[in-house]
Amino acid sequence: MELYSLSIDEARSAIVKGEISPQELVIALFERIDALEERVGAYVSLARENALRQARQAEDDLKGNAEKALVGIPLAIKDNICTEGIKTTCSSKILENFIPPYESAVTQRLKEEGYILIGKTNLDEFAMGSSTENSAFGLTKNPWDFERVPGGSSGGSAAAVASDECIAALGSDTGGSIRQPAAFCGVVGLKPTYGRVSRYGLVAFASSLDQIGPITKNVRDSAILMNIISGHDLYDSTSADMPVPDFTSNLGQEIKGLKIGIPKEYFIEGLDKEVEDSVKEAIKKLESLGAIPVEISLPHTEYAVAAYYILATSEASSNLARYDGVKYGLRADGEDLIDMYMRTRDEGFGAEVKRRIILGTYALSSGYYNAYYKKAQQVRTLIKEDFEKALENVDVIVTPTTPTPAFRIGEKTDDPLQMYLTDIFTLSVNLAGVPGISIPCGFTARNLPVGLQIIGKHFDEESILKIAYAYEQATDWHKRKPNI
Ligand code: GLN
Repeated sequence: MELYSLSIDEARSAIVKGEISPQELVIALFERIDALEERVGAYVSLARENALRQARQAEDDLKGNAEKALVGIPLAIKDNICTEGIKTTCSSKILENFIPPYESAVTQRLKEEGYILIGKTNLDEFAMGSSTENSAFGLTKNPWDFERVPGGSSGGSAAAVASDECIAALGSDTGGSIRQPAAFCGVVGLKPTYGRVSRYGLVAFASSLDQIGPITKNVRDSAILMNIISGHDLYDSTSADMPVPDFTSNLGQEIKGLKIGIPKEYFIEGLDKEVEDSVKEAIKKLESLGAIPVEISLPHTEYAVAAYYILATSEASSNLARYDGVKYGLRADGEDLIDMYMRTRDEGFGAEVKRRIILGTYALSSGYYNAYYKKAQQVRTLIKEDFEKALENVDVIVTPTTPTPAFRIGEKTDDPLQMYLTDIFTLSVNLAGVPGISIPCGFTARNLPVGLQIIGKHFDEESILKIAYAYEQATDWHKRKPNI
């Protein structure tokens, strides 16, 4: 087996046993990146020197103690997560040269466990999008078909994992941005419960929805990263002061008798036939492992996309007010202060970000606030209640992650509404604040991956990981690799 294709679990055990060295692993990954990156385009920037330095550090660490959970493991980080001293652009011209003076909480925790940062991955500008086509720094391609998108907004992270250009990655998910690209690229993506993971150092998009989570080659690696990044943080007042279980400890347990809810609103017109077939097969597989499927209803599903796009744009319009050319980021010349603000924002932001700032500002403006923002908040409460009610009677909910497999580059760029609809199965999970995972559950006739979404109760990532692991052990989808 090639070193670059190792999982976290495999790489760590080989490193700790002395079978491979962190430097060898880093070198193998950069060779892989050099061979593929021109075609895949997963990274905004690479951290070669940093990675080699950290690899030498890991080798020193290994001489002392080998306890660190990620000693010598090279990971990729989405470029909206701040890394001290290393450029963090959000794939936006406005932050093209921004070097954070501090480390995000999640990367700080990874550092303490000895990880190696190999690069920052591409995204839709400020994580606004579903295809990574909204990046100011070029396209990322789907490793399964270079004519198709990797999904988004964490498309770079998902493509890097799928093409073995890293061992695993972090992404962020506001309305599906971890799970949807994971589904399109045939890898595992987990959005934790709102509050499970600190967002300190995550560049804010929609603060009531944003969460950071792992994108990995398999379910065990997802649990390993969750163990490290989860938990209370004084620097993020929305992070929950809750005990963090060992997410790996339930893996391998039986799932007999667990009830899996199948929401009827998720099997509707517009759902691709091959996706539907794969997901139904997967449900049968879970049944054969002892799970009990139960039809459920999430009655307010049809309002989710509309509510999400009011709330997410409103929050974005407020969060992005800080990019005005004064404290950091791009600054354009202007005749006076107002002119400087306007030129900076006009030159710095791309079309989709501008569209959202305009939409959100409109929804929040006086006279419209009650009709849009307040109404959307009320709908959000109903959607949250749908999930809470359904999850009183079942252990988890199982759905397709996306209505279609990866679409063609350019196919939806002229039609924002079509693009927004690709999040139809993922964004309710953010509105409700519950955790969700996407795992590979099949391939279409064109050899495009299909994702299965498993949704859990608040702070019950353990159940979704356990079921995902049981399914993964019983199938081979996660072992398939794109032919590149
Ligand atoms: N595609 C959704 C949007 O454009 C979700 C993005 C995300 O989760 N960051 O808002």
